Amino acid sequence: MSEAHPIPISVVRLGDEVEKLLLEVVRSGVIAQGPVVKRLEDTFASMIGVKHVVAVNNGTTALIAAMQVLDLQPGDEVITSPFTFVATLNAILEAGATARFADISTDDFNVTAESIAARITDRTKVLMPVHLYGQSAGMGPISALADQHGLQIIEDAAQAHCATDAGRAAGSWGIGCFSLYATKNLTSSEGGLISTNDDAIADRLRVLRNQGMRQRYQYEMAGNNYRLTDIHAALCVPQLATYPEQLTRRRANAQRLNEGLAGLPGLRTPTQLDGREHVWHQYTVLVGPGSPLTRDDMVDALTAAGIGCGIYYPKLVFDYDCYRNHSGVIINDVPVAATVVQQCLSLPVHPYLTPDEIDRIVRTVRGLCGA
Ligand SMILES: *Cc1c(COP(=O)(O)O)cnc(C)c1O
Repeated sequence: MSEAHPIPISVVRLGDEVEKLLLEVVRSGVIAQGPVVKRLEDTFASMIGVKHVVAVNNGTTALIAAMQVLDLQPGDEVITSPFTFVATLNAILEAGATARFADISTDDFNVTAESIAARITDRTKVLMPVHLYGQSAGMGPISALADQHGLQIIEDAAQAHCATDAGRAAGSWGIGCFSLYATKNLTSSEGGLISTNDDAIADRLRVLRNQGMRQRYQYEMAGNNYRLTDIHAALCVPQLATYPEQLTRRRANAQRLNEGLAGLPGLRTPTQLDGREHVWHQYTVLVGPGSPLTRDDMVDALTAAGIGCGIYYPKLVFDYDCYRNHSGVIINDVPVAATVVQQCLSLPVHPYLTPDEIDRIVRTVRGLCGA
């Protein structure tokens, strides 16, 4: 292949097993929520070691539903990360709660217990860490903090399917919310999964998802239609079996990138912290002081060289007029996150990269850094 062929930042490849199951579902006539959704829920629950998984129509819905079953009231505060996809914040606002922001660490790009502690008020009800890029936040201290203050934990695990910390999966500490959007590590095109070890919460989630209805025309709560379909679930179920192998590839790719990009001036490669298993949804470097190119010039140069790259995320999540002036958004200084948004750059790490492609990414970045 020529040096110039494009290397995309993500690739969706579903394969024969998906086609087969999808066709089965189409032919079965059961195309809305049915047995394949149940298979998806049960298999994923066993993969991450939780009692219950409830499938919904997307990851944003998963977050909204998690807050709704906790009965959040207007004015109740949720502490989350300022360095996340906008869905995290939109879900908090949709649930009628108020968002506050803890700062992150550059070690894992996630909120720290220390920073959360400084944001707790008497209105705080929920801690919502985001396991960004596929690495779990440091959940031991966050969980202890929640216990100490009587707070609930909702984990935005949209990017962290099967990531672990201290042997426990993301999504197993509180209510876990996963996305199955097209570009996530596991996908149903659009879809979401909610995990919990709490029987009552799982039961309420299932009723909420289906118009608040337990039995036909018996409504227990004001619900909604949050259901996933068997057509969507059929896209995802076969991926569960091959996911461990995909993770092995993502990890090998990340390691090859880390080795190749080590020691460049002003460039900080990502780390997997002790005791955590990273699932490398994104491979994100920081381009900081000392780099011969700015982050944005690096993006332009990589794009020109046919190397897909991304800035996740270019601004703090609240740094837009529609949130800055929103009564549900309480803004405070988050200096680490404010620096990271100016320096972050994600490079391809997806499981279909070849070693040659990784070497080309490495060569190109090293060349840009004058090495
Ligand atoms: C993708 C994503 C979501 C939302 O998931 P959707 O399925 O797109 O609704 C929420 N939070 C984070 C961090 C995400 O990356």
